[in-house]
Amino acid sequence: MLILMKSDSSQKERKAVCKHIEKLGFKPHPIPGEHNCAIGITGNDGPINESEFLPLSGVVKCIRVTSPYKLAGRDFNPKGTKVKVGSVTFGEGHFVNIAGPCSVESEEQTLRIAKAVKEHGAHVLRGGAFKPRTSPYSFQGLGLEGLKILKKASLEFDIPIITEAIDFESLSMVAEYADIIQIGARNMQNFALLQEVGRINKAVVLKRGISATLEEWLSSAEYIMQNGNNKVILCERGIRSFDKYTRNLLDLSAVPSIKTLSHLPVIVDPSHGTGRKELISPMAKGSLAVGAHGIMVEVHDKPREALSDGYQALLPAEFAKLSGEVFQMSQSLSDM
Ligand code: PEP
Ligand code: MN
Repeated sequence: MLILMKSDSSQKERKAVCKHIEKLGFKPHPIPGEHNCAIGITGNDGPINESEFLPLSGVVKCIRVTSPYKLAGRDFNPKGTKVKVGSVTFGEGHFVNIAGPCSVESEEQTLRIAKAVKEHGAHVLRGGAFKPRTSPYSFQGLGLEGLKILKKASLEFDIPIITEAIDFESLSMVAEYADIIQIGARNMQNFALLQEVGRINKAVVLKRGISATLEEWLSSAEYIMQNGNNKVILCERGIRSFDKYTRNLLDLSAVPSIKTLSHLPVIVDPSHGTGRKELISPMAKGSLAVGAHGIMVEVHDKPREALSDGYQALLPAEFAKLSGEVFQMSQSLSDM
């Protein structure tokens, strides 16, 4: 259930409602909006009688939430959630450009690419230090050393960083160094890891699992939010299909669908979504056209030497062109 409070309700009234929820043995989730406040309730097995709350001062109405993802569902914040990371905002009216190498390979490589993507319009630098690789013989990432390199790049070029956590151990390190924690496709249903991320007060990009339905994906977001972390950004990165021409089938229909089902920002990764560098630009522009709040693109200046995913990385000059195009497109879309 979701309790809508009057826009001029006081802190005292909101606290009283939260206390009453706790008294009933449930968990309150206050969601402060720009103009009003809603309080979500989780922990109840069955329906709650709204007469418990309607008489309380400051309460406007009670909304029954029937979806399995109560906190991630659109009802929870119909205006849409904005997730702020420093000066970068994810959400409606913003288009965040995330770029960088698949993996942090060395300090020189990361600093070179970080400089290039920052100059060419990236708002956030990506780079994997802990790599979930299909083969145990493939490059597994530089680990903590990689995080230190990313941090150096972040400070040198004044750009926030996103990097993936693959387990509890890497999560505690990633949480210390990164501005945004990435949970990759392979870990989308690692519920213990999701719950742990929920205890950290940091933005999280939750990628869609390789064969996850929208409901499964949002239920995973729910695991994070249920533990108090509301700063969840969803990332469509393609799903498994039968045609091997592309690495994955980038499901752009997921973007407007998610925006109907959920209030969370949603971005698109056309690099992993297609696995083909020539498809990155059209699919990135398509993402913007269907309402995505950003893109995450792999960029490498020596893709043939890349230790992972070189075939799906743009060269810095190609990224510069794409960046300019999406910027222009987003300007004209906001004028419409
Ligand atoms: C990545 O972004 O580096 C990555 C491994 O992506 P995914 O989890 O989507 O495969
Ligand atoms: Mn990659």
